[in-house]
Amino acid sequence: MTYQSLSPFDGKLIKGFVDITNSEYEHKLAKAQACYETWRHTSYAHRATIIAKAARLLHEQADAFAHTMTLEMGKRISEARGEVEFSSRILAYYAEHAERFLAPVKLNPVHGKAHMESSPIGVIFGVEPWNFPYYQLARVAGPHLMAGNTMVVKHAGIVPQCALAFEQLFVEAGAPDGLYTNLFISHEQSDKIVDDPRIKGVCLTGSVAAGRSIAARAGKNLKVSSMELGGADAFIVLEDADLDLTVPWAVWGRMYNAGQTCCAAKRFIVVESVADAFITRFHAALSALKPGDPLDEATTLGPLSSESALVQLLDQVKHAVAHGARLLLGGKRIDRPGSFMEPTMLTDVKPDNPAFRDEFFGPVAMIFRVKDEAAAIALANDSDFGLGGSVWTRDHDRGHRVASAVETGMMFINNIDWSDPELPFGGIKDSGYGRELGDMGIQEFVNKKLVRCVEMHAPA
Ligand code: NAP
Repeated sequence: MTYQSLSPFDGKLIKGFVDITNSEYEHKLAKAQACYETWRHTSYAHRATIIAKAARLLHEQADAFAHTMTLEMGKRISEARGEVEFSSRILAYYAEHAERFLAPVKLNPVHGKAHMESSPIGVIFGVEPWNFPYYQLARVAGPHLMAGNTMVVKHAGIVPQCALAFEQLFVEAGAPDGLYTNLFISHEQSDKIVDDPRIKGVCLTGSVAAGRSIAARAGKNLKVSSMELGGADAFIVLEDADLDLTVPWAVWGRMYNAGQTCCAAKRFIVVESVADAFITRFHAALSALKPGDPLDEATTLGPLSSESALVQLLDQVKHAVAHGARLLLGGKRIDRPGSFMEPTMLTDVKPDNPAFRDEFFGPVAMIFRVKDEAAAIALANDSDFGLGGSVWTRDHDRGHRVASAVETGMMFINNIDWSDPELPFGGIKDSGYGRELGDMGIQEFVNKKLVRCVEMHAPA
């Protein structure tokens, strides 16, 4: 059974679901295609009434949506509520702005008149991860449905109730049958969906391995794709950083969602002169976190999303230490039921340690000491990933200089306020390609067509 709700807090099975058969998914795909044939011709105003209603319902039912998420993947309830509200804002944002983003753009050729116009391309296949069970869905559904496409979505196996709740949201918002369809399918069936000629684009958020597999399949079929993959974001602390501001962000940046965020701060690169002070305060703050029931508002450390995620992370830490890293804090599972891991700090991770190039998807901070700003930038760039990163300094010009020099898709100066409906999100290198959110996000799966009108004779 691929799709199972299992509580990471106590390990109990909540509910299991059966994968759909090939003929069931064929039926759903046919509906998505049929829906596209009418939806593509609807007005932005009509689409907006449905997407905006979904946004409102999500907001009104935020507690119920958040509760399901916390039960299935262990996100602390206050964070879960925040994610639901944010997802609602994303849907509302595209309901309001899609028409403006996709309006014809006038060009200025030497002869005649020309413009670019945007039109939908068809059914889009989304493959999405469990770590943000609604936000990831809203990030693709908001723009791509408003653009006139329809969607079929494979969500992660451990969040089936979230997947169904999000699909039901569109039903309640009055969406036509086939507009947004959840698919409980296997990886093999996913491949078949990518191959299907009715699918015109593929968007995936997940691991590098999943990205390689689905992107290769999409490429073989000459289908446009966007890939939002992993990250090993640098958190660069310069000697003039305000530690009162920096340390709480370091804790949040590493520990939000129990550390299971693609763009979490994962490599803390600290200039030597401030390293002892930073490490002492960071260590104290991480040590103070209290594990507990993620449904309890007082809990400050939730479980990891699953037992297998915990086992994998513990193995990675063990491996890192076996190759010379030093444990400054934690490193073990917490002695209680559920998939809880101690907040962990690793130092002395040298370039020949496999951990140096790894993504730690959980509460594990790698700390690096460097002599100056140039060394910090060089180390930040010595990564296979290129998602985001941040720099901490009282000097904004310096912050901008470092931000420009780091090779990633996003950089933050004195904050890691990662995502906003109006700001594009995405990376380079092994972190993938394409952007979600903002104006750029809605442009990924539309046909940008040139139309030129000139009265002229053919060349002789
Ligand atoms: P994952 O194992 O790649 O799973 C993500 C999704 O891909 C799930 O729906 C999964 O389905 C599916 N999948 C995996 N392999 C597949 C294959 N060969 N064919 C078809 N579908 C496949 O990733 P994860 O461990 O759940 O998520 C964590 C990763 O996602 C981290 O690397 C993180 O950095 C990244 N992430 C990136 C972003 C971003 O915006 N850049 C955001 C969030 C997370 P099953 O669950 O059924 O296996």
